[in-house]
Amino acid sequence: MIDTSALRLRLDGVRDRIAGAARRAGRDPASVRLLAVSKTFPAEDIRAAAAAGQVDFGENKVQEAQQKIAALADLPLRWHLIGHLQSNKARKAGGLFHCIHSVASAALLEPIDKAAQQAGRAVELLVQVDLAGEATKFGTTPDGVLPIFEAAARCSSARIVGLMLIPPAVDEPEQARPYFAALRQLRNQLQQQGIPAPALAELSMGMSHDFEVAVEEGATLVRVGSAIFGERTYPPPA
Ligand SMILES: *Cc1c(COP(=O)(O)O)cnc(C)c1O
Repeated sequence: MIDTSALRLRLDGVRDRIAGAARRAGRDPASVRLLAVSKTFPAEDIRAAAAAGQVDFGENKVQEAQQKIAALADLPLRWHLIGHLQSNKARKAGGLFHCIHSVASAALLEPIDKAAQQAGRAVELLVQVDLAGEATKFGTTPDGVLPIFEAAARCSSARIVGLMLIPPAVDEPEQARPYFAALRQLRNQLQQQGIPAPALAELSMGMSHDFEVAVEEGATLVRVGSAIFGERTYPPPA
């Protein structure tokens, strides 16, 4: 059973730290949205966070999210897909999520858009960028970003609203700062190349161990899991 008052304290603590980081950077704290990453945690934990005012939730698996979305359909929540999106799941994702952070190829756009259209809903997309050239990480190279924006112009129900980054794992939050700054610079560069501002409004970056640095560097969406819900215990390998 989840300890609701402890969860509330952790949520408030994260919100305070986001606001502090925003002020340090001369930003309006209201320009940063907290995405509570609920992957591996049960629907009742999400319900407790919702009771504490949390609206945006992030999941990394389509199947797992589908069950929670159904179980919590009575609440006005916003669901974000933050995990790698396989092309055979794109259609399903387009009918489920409000925002998909892991668009890394133009080929994903059409199935997402079609599904959203059929469901009569709008879907926001973020282009995931790999700035470290890591073979193990998903995301497009910086060169691959512009063609995805161009292809998205053909979508009717899905639209790109920004960029997403998972930096390489580092020991100290400060070591992630150059990657966060680089995503902001890429955003600025795309703006200069003629991409309209609404398509570049969001920068999804920062997790439990480095979200304050991300906010200092311009994050508008921070994806925080364990600092809110506690340490994850993954099921043992089969
Ligand atoms: C799990 C996950 C997070 C949250 O990680 P924490 O360290 O628990 O805050 C953020 N972003 C992505 C893409 C994730 O998969």
